[in-house]
Amino acid sequence: MSDPQIEKLLIVQDRDVALQKIEQELARIPQERSALEAHITTEQANIEAASQALKEKEVQRNEVDTEVKAKESAIARFLTQQLEVKKNDEYRALTQQIEQNQSDIAELEERQIELMLEIDGTRETFEAEKAVIEARIVEQKQEILQLAEREKNLKASINEAQASVVAARSTVDESYLGHYDRVKKLCKRPPYVAPIEAHKCGGCHLRVSNEVSGNAHLDSEIHFCDQCARIVYA
Ligand SMILES: [Zn+2]
Repeated sequence: MSDPQIEKLLIVQDRDVALQKIEQELARIPQERSALEAHITTEQANIEAASQALKEKEVQRNEVDTEVKAKESAIARFLTQQLEVKKNDEYRALTQQIEQNQSDIAELEERQIELMLEIDGTRETFEAEKAVIEARIVEQKQEILQLAEREKNLKASINEAQASVVAARSTVDESYLGHYDRVKKLCKRPPYVAPIEAHKCGGCHLRVSNEVSGNAHLDSEIHFCDQCARIVYA
């Protein structure tokens, strides 16, 4: 290849590709950031839900405590009443009430023990998981900061990359540039200018016609792959 226009176009292409890489990386950053943020939100919600479950069990235990106290004061009241009643059947009725309350209290105390064990177990698991999750959140926040740093650097380098594309383009003939821009739009993916090797286009890797292959080394004009329309040279 000795067409100087093609050599210059290859420089434009290199710089275009470098610029595209920066642009693509920049475009991905908001998605990466929202994925991290969504993750943090979920983790925080998980901690909150576990903490809420623990609180609910503590509320249950307090309710049982209150119930036990109420039954204890009922027993005390019945005992006082027993001192005052004269009739045997009234006395027996109070004894029954006292016994009923005592058996209720025994059941409630079993429930208290169950709840205390549950709370202890839940709290232990919760604290351990919370520590792990919180450490993960710290890491994710760190990653968000790094993303911001990367975004800043990419934005800083994008101007330079754009300027170097402009500079490279300014050295190329209008007609070659026009073809290059058309191919770029058409092909979406680089390369836009590709070598022909062993009769194959370096862009689409398909075999080109003998005419294209035979003429590709002629520097007087621009050549195109007859499969993908990329600019080709040999
Ligand atoms: Zn091709």
